Amino acid sequence: MKETRNLPAFHARSAEDVLDALSARRSGLTNEDAARRLAEHGPNRLPEPPQRGPLRRFLSHFHNVLIYILIASAAVTAALQHWVDTGVILAVVIVNAVIGYVQEGRAERAMDAIRGMLAPRSSVLRDGKRISVDADDLVPGDIVLVEAGDRGPADLRVIEARGLKLEEAILTGESVPVDKGTAPVAEDAALGDRTSMLFSGTLVAAGAGRGVVTATGPETQIGRISGMLSRVETLTTPLVAQMDRFARWLTVFILIVAGALLAYGYFVGHLPFSDLFMAVVGLSVAAIPEGLPAVLTITLAVGVQAMARRNAIVRRLPAIETLGSVSVICSDKTGTLTRNEMMAATLAAAEHVYSVGGNGYSPEGAVRWREADVHPDEHRVLMEFARAAGLCNDAMLHAHEAGWRVEGDPMEGALMALAGKITREGAESFRQWTRTDAIPFDAAHRYMGTLHHDHEGRACIHVKGAPEAVLALCADQRAADGGAAPLDVDYWHAMVEELAAEGQRVIAVAARAVPQDHTILNTADLERQLTLIGLIGLIDPPRDEAIAAVADCHAAGIRVKMVTGDHAATARAIAAMIGLRNPDRVLTGADVEALDDAALADAAVQTDIFARTSPAHKLRLVTALQARGLTVAMTGDGVNDAPALKRADAGIAMGLKGSAAAKEAAELVLADDNFASIAAAVREGRTVYDNIKKVISWTLPTNAGEAMTIIVALLAGMALPITAVQILWVNLVTAVTLGLALAFEPSEPGTMRRPPRPRDEPLLTGALVWHVVLVSTLFLAAVFGMYFYAIDRGYPIALSQTIAMNTLVVLEIFHLFFIRNIHGTSLTWTAVRGTRIVWACVLTVAAAQLAITYLPPLQGIFGTQDVPLFDGLVIFAIGVVFFALIETEKQMRLAFQRPDLNGQNET
Ligand code: ADP
Ligand code: MG
Repeated sequence: MKETRNLPAFHARSAEDVLDALSARRSGLTNEDAARRLAEHGPNRLPEPPQRGPLRRFLSHFHNVLIYILIASAAVTAALQHWVDTGVILAVVIVNAVIGYVQEGRAERAMDAIRGMLAPRSSVLRDGKRISVDADDLVPGDIVLVEAGDRGPADLRVIEARGLKLEEAILTGESVPVDKGTAPVAEDAALGDRTSMLFSGTLVAAGAGRGVVTATGPETQIGRISGMLSRVETLTTPLVAQMDRFARWLTVFILIVAGALLAYGYFVGHLPFSDLFMAVVGLSVAAIPEGLPAVLTITLAVGVQAMARRNAIVRRLPAIETLGSVSVICSDKTGTLTRNEMMAATLAAAEHVYSVGGNGYSPEGAVRWREADVHPDEHRVLMEFARAAGLCNDAMLHAHEAGWRVEGDPMEGALMALAGKITREGAESFRQWTRTDAIPFDAAHRYMGTLHHDHEGRACIHVKGAPEAVLALCADQRAADGGAAPLDVDYWHAMVEELAAEGQRVIAVAARAVPQDHTILNTADLERQLTLIGLIGLIDPPRDEAIAAVADCHAAGIRVKMVTGDHAATARAIAAMIGLRNPDRVLTGADVEALDDAALADAAVQTDIFARTSPAHKLRLVTALQARGLTVAMTGDGVNDAPALKRADAGIAMGLKGSAAAKEAAELVLADDNFASIAAAVREGRTVYDNIKKVISWTLPTNAGEAMTIIVALLAGMALPITAVQILWVNLVTAVTLGLALAFEPSEPGTMRRPPRPRDEPLLTGALVWHVVLVSTLFLAAVFGMYFYAIDRGYPIALSQTIAMNTLVVLEIFHLFFIRNIHGTSLTWTAVRGTRIVWACVLTVAAAQLAITYLPPLQGIFGTQDVPLFDGLVIFAIGVVFFALIETEKQMRLAFQRPDLNGQNET
């Protein structure tokens, strides 16, 4: 770790002093300066915990009970001078460690990839422009903009604060948010009292502000305290952890059985010790599903990667399982169901309603009234719209080759573009105004206000926000002559309804002139003192993918509900376009408040549109839906959404517009904020759960069948139909290779046409237990059947054993094809065609199997003999019969399920 410098006490110096000391300016560093400083100070990152080397990691896979037992067995066989057995056992030990190592590598790559996608970004001023950069690239002297929901990206000296409150529990343990300001504090102030500083890692609980970076990476307070934050997360879910525990206890159980059999065979059966010992080792290896935990972890890793490819980043792994059982999705409207590519389309003033043309965020386009272009000189109200839209605004527009882009909120970008269209000068026209104070937008009060001064001694307040919120603040409205007229509330409400019914998002703008010495903006300055300028209607078309995804969710038995802060009529219009169920029924935030918990639960289940809601309502909605036994996914982006996201079964945060607070509370983060990604994640969640189930349903009968074969032979006092060395081979090489194929299984065709899995469905269902019993019995019968068939034909024991072993492997392969379609029929062309991975695994196993059966050097090791062609065909035929039996049995079971519960007719 780099030596940390002793930084000066920036908290005790004035903001100007600090800026000077850091050679920084309020307008930000230049790009060159930032690059130079980055080279000097290094990236703004805490040092990574040291990694274990590859050899250490490989060796760690030998630390495992099963491996110890195998090594001990190798020692015993060596003492007995059974060198071949010793060699095979040691080879098995190594193969097992290699699989573990590969699985760990895969899991780690999956986790690294999602960590990379979640790398935090922050807003800075560079060359006077607000841009968003990777938080790693911050340097001392940078001017950083923060708002509610952000995490401090570095240590900052606050140079501007508006209602700024920080939650510093991570540093000080104090969970009550602390007010921050620009005034210096005493030099010896404790960390928690340095109100002029914003520390890296602390959470902006409310307000907004700016700060100059004083320290980055290891030099920050958090960097010094913890040195390094360890962020190891292992790839596991409750289900997989449960399987892991199950496998461990099963191991203990089997060792006890094995010990008992050894004693029984030796003292009662009087069998020769060395043969008996090998048989018991074979039994242990056969019965213990040693590959299972590794294959399950790979299944999860594959799922995490598949979700990441579909823009759904899993932050907490248990979410993979939960997603599969989601029965209600509560989604934001703006940006999730709609494109969030806003454009101002309508301006409603007291006299006229104007329409606005143009494309995207380009500040060019005509304002028209009654089909004719109008000029702001003749319609003075337009200039007032422009000023309110341009000044009461935090966004910036940048011209790119591909068009205009917004830095900030898309709606504010659209308002900037509107201002440009009216003034035809872009941002230039408001140069003379400087912002002296502001009230940031908050989803709870739904408006934003700014106070501006100019050089000629004028001062003006502008407010924009939800019409109800703004109208409530207005005393009068702008009259045609530029003066004031009484507020015509009915006219405005009718206008709002009219625009909203077309799906437009409506906001109202208002203004007020104030004396020049008015420099601090309080909510008291707004109340009943504003003059309404008019309404702005913005269009935000629905996403085409969202429409398709909503239909998919409905087919999958998942209700989609829209929870928005927008107006009821807008919400209703958009819901109809998106295809939500009963778009005529809307519950507003006020309605939600009026209902008690029980009534709300009923209403919440029946209603699909919730408008004018605030984050507190979201929390109540989640709770209400959960009270009805539903598994709820809820989206959110703001700092206040965190409680609802935490409460939801699957909290989903927006990756682009979401705050750090929302992302941290969420299980899943959407890289593209798109509703379609939620549907994709649900589908992947169902697939992963299916695959976990498939891996287990395939592995357990295989192990049970092998183990039963040995036990029956031992108890009957006969030669083993498959030798111990062969069992080791089948179990560790073929079984793991084939089982692995299931980790990569794609979704079954009907995956999104099944209702959601009940939340409390146990893994070891009666059906699974029955499957294990049925298949392992069939395995047992087939293996013994083929063995006696061979003996009966007068074949030597070694050849009979070779035939029995090959029968076992062929059955495993047929079983694999069966398991691939647990929800539907396996008798379709798609099912037979399989996937590349399945065939790769099957062909690998088949080639290996032919090699140990027919290659003389391997015959020496495994004690095998050439299987005649005819008998090979008989083995294959046995496989076909086995497959026909279990498939028919499945169809019989499916026939008794509700027709919509299985995927029979869906391909
Ligand atoms: P949504 O669910 O559509 O994202 P929000 O909670 O973000 O809704 O916004 C609710 C309402 O607040 C909007 O309909 C709009 O009237 C108003 N609003 C949203 N953003 C701003 C802003 N930046 N400034 C002023 N008002 C806003
Ligand atoms: Mg919003």
